[in-house]
Amino acid sequence: MKLKNQYDLAKISTTIGTLARGQEWSTSAYTKGESYKVTEVQCAFFEDEERIFIACNKGEHDQVLTALNSCGVTTIASLLEVLEAAHGVFYLQDGDRNRLGIKHSYSKQDRTAYDLVHATDASYGSMAMTDPQIDKVKAASKVANTTLPPGITAADVWMFRKLSGKKVETARPAGSLRTVKGPDNVREQTINIIVNSEDAHAELAILKFLTRGLVEGVFTKSKIYLGGRKVACANCKTWIDNYKKVLKAGVTLHTPEDARSETQTNPGTCPSGFVPALTVTVTSKLRTTEPMFDKLFSGERIDGVTWPAIAAETVAVQPQEEAVE
Ligand SMILES: [Zn+2]
Repeated sequence: MKLKNQYDLAKISTTIGTLARGQEWSTSAYTKGESYKVTEVQCAFFEDEERIFIACNKGEHDQVLTALNSCGVTTIASLLEVLEAAHGVFYLQDGDRNRLGIKHSYSKQDRTAYDLVHATDASYGSMAMTDPQIDKVKAASKVANTTLPPGITAADVWMFRKLSGKKVETARPAGSLRTVKGPDNVREQTINIIVNSEDAHAELAILKFLTRGLVEGVFTKSKIYLGGRKVACANCKTWIDNYKKVLKAGVTLHTPEDARSETQTNPGTCPSGFVPALTVTVTSKLRTTEPMFDKLFSGERIDGVTWPAIAAETVAVQPQEEAVE
C-alpha cells in the first residue's frame, strides 16, 4: 500500500466522500439529488498490513460501496488509482473543470480541509492533473455507446460520464467490493466497507469494529491509523482522547492533528450529553458479546465502564467538563 499515515487517510476519505455523494451510482442513468448523501467518511488501516477499513455515518455505507464498485475498484492499488483520478478533476479550478464537462467537485469546505491536511503532511495526494489524465477524462466521457476506445475501460467510462452528469451505455463494472458487518466478515478482503446502522459518528463505528476484531483476535497488528473527511466533533474527540488513554497491550491509535475546524455536529448523530469512557470501576474484562460493548461505542453517556482486553484495567479518565482547564 502506498498510504503512509493518518493524514493520507484524511485525504482519501475526502475524495471518497465527494466521489460517492450526490448521485445514484447503481443505475446507468444520471440521477442526482440530496438523498444520495455521504456526510462523513473515515478510513483506517493497521501498520504493516495491505488492508483498509472504511466507515461512514449511519446508513451511508451502501452509497460508498456502489460508487467504488461502479468505478471498478477491486484492490487497494485500483482504489488509489481511482481516487487519484477523482481528486484530479475535483481539485481543478472551476473553469478548467467546466471545460472538461465535470459536474462534481469538492465543496469549499472539503477543498480547504484537503489543503490544510496536505500542508501538514504531503505524503499522499498529487495536486495537479497530467496531460494523459486529462486526455483520458475527455475520451472516457465521450463514449456514448457500448464500444470502448483503446486504453479506456468500462470503469473509466462509468466514472467520468457519471461525474459529467451523463447517462452511461457501457455495462456497469461488476465490482468485487462488499460491505462487512463484523470482523469475521473480513477474511481475505483488503477493502472493507463497514455497515454502520448506529447513530454515533463514523469514527466511533470504525473504532468499534477494529476494537472488536482486536479483542476477538481477528486482527493481530496493533498500530491503528485513522483519518476522516472531517475532524471529529467535540464529543467524538473527547471520546477518542479517552480511548487512546485506556489502550494497552501495544495497541496505539494515531489520528490527524491539523488546522481543520470542527465538524458541524448534527445533534441526531452524536448525542450532546455524551461523557465517554470514564473511570474503570470493575476488574473483570468486558466481552464483545455483552450489551455494554455496543453501548461503549454508541455515544450514550457512560460514567463507569470496564474496557475490553486491549484496554488497561484501571485508568481514570477525566470527565469532559473537568478536563478543560
Ligand atoms: Zn461525533
